[in-house]
Amino acid sequence: MTFCDKKYYNKLSKSFSKFLEHYLKYGYQHQLCGSPKGMSAPSYGRFKELTSLIDYECDFKDGLCKVQRKYDVAVGDSNPKCCCAGCGNNIGYLDYIPSYEDAEQLWKIYSPVDGFWTDKGCRLPRNIRSVTCLIHSCEMNYSEPVIWLFDILRNGIHSIDEYYLQHIGFYERGDCGSHIKSEDVYKHLKSRLQYERNIRITNQAHMDEFEQMKFSW
Ligand code: SF4
Ligand code: SF4
Repeated sequence: MTFCDKKYYNKLSKSFSKFLEHYLKYGYQHQLCGSPKGMSAPSYGRFKELTSLIDYECDFKDGLCKVQRKYDVAVGDSNPKCCCAGCGNNIGYLDYIPSYEDAEQLWKIYSPVDGFWTDKGCRLPRNIRSVTCLIHSCEMNYSEPVIWLFDILRNGIHSIDEYYLQHIGFYERGDCGSHIKSEDVYKHLKSRLQYERNIRITNQAHMDEFEQMKFSW
């Protein structure tokens, strides 16, 4: 039985029904069933997972990001929830919820006040976070692979086709192409993002080394 089955919906507990009704009314795109952009949910989720290789440059310290640290917390100018302040009302800006089981799990960790936000960060794993959340950064230094990944999250299979053509080549392997292309693009993009992350970590190590150097003039 699926989330969209009316018979099931009628049997739901009151507070869970309330959560669903709120999602239908205020959720970002109000999609309850099916898969996004012509991809299966697990396949789409893997591309979302790749965002864990990105440095969003929020630079959290003591529970505040670099933007919030510019304000004075003591006089109430700062909002620690920052760009996640609308999470409760928008139910994490979720693009879609694929099944009843997923919806129930989300409901159990959702708070009407904070949504999925905690003072230690977002509760949701990357593979189910919304595209709205994953592509948001107010001051990130966007590299080419990051731009591609965000395009794929926004446009799904169309951007996968485009990436394949530009980075891998022509496709000549029969009719079940979408699945294989998506696999190839996932691996290709992952290795580029990993490479970038390693360079960043190496550079950071150098920077730390330089910061410790003491000059005498
Ligand atoms: S995206 Fe910007 S406002 Fe949001 S947490 Fe990061 S630094 Fe703060
Ligand atoms: S990142 Fe997480 S806490 Fe922030 S708005 Fe999205 S779902 Fe909510």
